[in-house]
Formats: sequence, structure tokens, C-alpha cells
Amino acid sequence: MSDFCVAKFGGTSVANSDAMLNCMRIVTANPKTKLVVLSASAGVTNLLVKLANGVADEAEREETISKISAIQNQILDYLGHPEAISGEIKNHIDQIRILAREAVYETNDVLVDRIVCNGELMSTKLFTEVMKKNGYDAVWFDVRKVMRTDNNFGKAAPIIEVLRIQAQKELSDLVQNHIVITQGFIGSNAEGQTTTLGRGGSDYSAALLGEALNFGEVEIWTDVPGIYTTDPRIVSTAHAIPEISFAEAAEMATFGAKILHPATVQPAMRANIPVFVGSSKEPRAGGTWIRPDTDSKPLFRAVAIRKNQILLTLKTARMVGACGFLSTAFGIFAKHGLSVDLVTTSEQSIAVTLDNTGTKSNGQSILSEALLADLRQIASVKIEEDLSLIALIGNHMSRTPGSESKVFSAIFDIPIRLICYGASSHNTCFLVHSKDGEEAVRRLHVHLLD
Ligand code: ASP
Ligand code: MG
Repeated sequence: MSDFCVAKFGGTSVANSDAMLNCMRIVTANPKTKLVVLSASAGVTNLLVKLANGVADEAEREETISKISAIQNQILDYLGHPEAISGEIKNHIDQIRILAREAVYETNDVLVDRIVCNGELMSTKLFTEVMKKNGYDAVWFDVRKVMRTDNNFGKAAPIIEVLRIQAQKELSDLVQNHIVITQGFIGSNAEGQTTTLGRGGSDYSAALLGEALNFGEVEIWTDVPGIYTTDPRIVSTAHAIPEISFAEAAEMATFGAKILHPATVQPAMRANIPVFVGSSKEPRAGGTWIRPDTDSKPLFRAVAIRKNQILLTLKTARMVGACGFLSTAFGIFAKHGLSVDLVTTSEQSIAVTLDNTGTKSNGQSILSEALLADLRQIASVKIEEDLSLIALIGNHMSRTPGSESKVFSAIFDIPIRLICYGASSHNTCFLVHSKDGEEAVRRLHVHLLD
């Protein structure tokens, strides 16, 4: 493992020229930072997704394109509109216009990815120029040369072995002598078509590249100084967590905290690379280190909430005393590329929640008619939507007598729709009605984390 660092900056961190200058200072303050992974400038991906889903009205389409151009133009203003980069940005905007028109007639996941990739391509080209204007040796790199994925457009999975070989071949020499600027979120399949990893996927890209290049550190720079005990917009006494273990962070990213894309911890865990999460606006405010293990192992570390949960209950008489029903049901979810979060079973039914975050790049609901039709072949299906998933993260929970009574006495009068406990000693998860979600978080924080 080298001591090199990959630094990822999110959309708000590259929203305009001032934000980009902050990033530049962070990158250049650490001589070990050799690779920079960027999201699209804030707001751009949402606008591109809108175009990719087909905006029929031409005036509205042009207005949406102007909003995207305005964000790029502000940064070009800072750069003084040099010919080469201005021309490149113009080409991207022209390309977006042509594809957005195509999307009006018929859109599909392949086209969505061809459109949305332009956000990251533009932000990285502009940031490279910002670095160069300030005298740094920055090199732009098209991540699609290395980030090989499968064909699941809109939520593609990386092919780790190919990524490693390609990254070693294309990047390991380059990072020795330059600061390399590249895109998060996007990749390409074996045929060279552009794919995306799903919304918020840039964090995941950074960790994957760190793993592929045997780097010693991943930094995720966002707009909050670290991972908090809970969302500070819900609980004002929430505070940053200085250190958290991979296992806890993985549970937290999967079950709630939106600060990291859920898959980010996986490559870091495989390769044992510590991950730092901090704010690009306040780099000195500290942040959170995600490490293989931590000295402190509090029973309760954090409480996360994930809204808009879908609960599916599959009921069938066939399950009584039968073998293999769960495997058939999960086979259907797998066929539709869906990851199941919580699971509980009874004699005749199983209830599962579906992961609605890190959704497909086109933003559409994951609950498709095709999925429901397949499930109805094997069971009756009940769908409940208006639910929030509350995840309490910590250590040794299922081995500490009394921990659960502390949890449930804090929220004794809030109705609980489903509870999951015991599979991991790092979490206790339950579902409540949406209207009770934030209150449950407040109570748990006051009683267990303040
Ligand atoms: N730009 C993409 C998005 O908004 C990826 C990312 O920000 O991580 O989802
Ligand atoms: Mg993001």
C-alpha cells in the first residue's frame, strides 16, 4: 500500500469558482493527494436527469440547458474564457441539447447515462483548468478508461478485477508525477458505452479507485464536517463523531446517514484503507475517520433515519413447512437488481424493506410493475409506503443486557411497524410511520446520545 491519497469532492464543493478554489487549497495542502475525484457541480445532475427523462416543451428544455450553462459559465468567467476549455464546454452543452431532444421521442437507461455523464465531465475539465491557472500540474483523466462496469445502466456495478488492471495500467504512473483529476459516478461497460453507478455514486468511485491503486487513504470532502450522531437539522445537539469503525460506518451508510453512498465503505473495508469525511468549506473543523477498528466502542454511537421506505409483505400458504420460498423470493429481487434491507418472517409471510436510496440515475421508483408481477406469481403482495427506517448504530448491542429496553423505553408511545435486531451487534433497526420518524430520532438522541 502506498501513502497516496484520493480526495473526492461533492457537488456543493465544486459548485462555483470559489468552492473550486477551496478544493484546490485542500488538495495542494496535502502532497500525498495524487488523485481527485469530482461530482458534477451542485444541481447539474438533477437538471440533466430532468432532460434525460424527456422535456417535451422546447422553451422549458432550453431554460433547463441555460441553467446548466450558467453554472459552467461562472467558472469560465473566473478562468477568463480561454478558447480551448470554452470550446470543450460548448461541445458538452451542444451534446446535451442533441441528446435531450432525442429523449423527448424515446428515453431509456442508456440514453440517461449518456446525458448525465456530462455533469462530471464538465466539472472535472473546469477544475483541471482552475488548478493549472494557479500554477499546479493537474492532468484531466477520463475515468471511463478504467472504471469498468456491468451493463446495468443507471445503477451499474463495478467489475473490480478489470478496474484494478486498468487503473494500474493507465493511472499508476500518471499519479507519480501529477495531480490527476477525474470523474466520480461514471464508468463504462465492456463495449465502451457510458454507464453510471447510481445517484450519489462519486463517493463509491473514489473508494474503488483508492482500492484499485493500493492507495493509503480516501478523503470524502462534502458540506458537513464529518459524520454526525444524527442529522443536525433534526437534533440541534447532534455532534460530529471523531472516529468510527468500518462495521459501524457500513451499517450507518446503508441504513440511514446520507453522508456517504452506501457502497463506499466496501472497497475501503476490503483494502483496509482509512476514510476521512470532512467539510471542504471548513477543512480545519475536523471530521470523521472511518477506520478498520476504533479504541472507543460505545454501546450507542449514532441514530440515522431513512425516509420513504417501501415495505413489501409477501404472504403465501406455500411457505408453511416448505423449503426454498425465501430463496425464490430473494431470487426475484436479485433478478430485478434490487437490494433488500430489513427482513422479518413469520409462518406464512415475509416482510422486507427495499433500499430506495442510491437509486437509479433516472430517479424512477424502484417498485416496477415487472417486479410486482413476478412476486405475485409466488405470493400475495402488500405494499406499504409512508414509512421511515430508524437505525441505531453502536457496539455489542445484541450482547448487552438491557440495551433494548433503553431503546424502546425512549420511544414507548411511538407505534413500531417492524423491528430487526440481532443479525449484527452494531445495529437495531425499526420502521415507524413517517409522521413519527423525526420524533423517534429526537427522543433516541436525547436519551442515548446527548
Ligand atoms: N453527480 C451525481 C449525483 O448527483 C453523483 C454524485 O454526486 O455523487 O448523484
Ligand atoms: Mg454526493
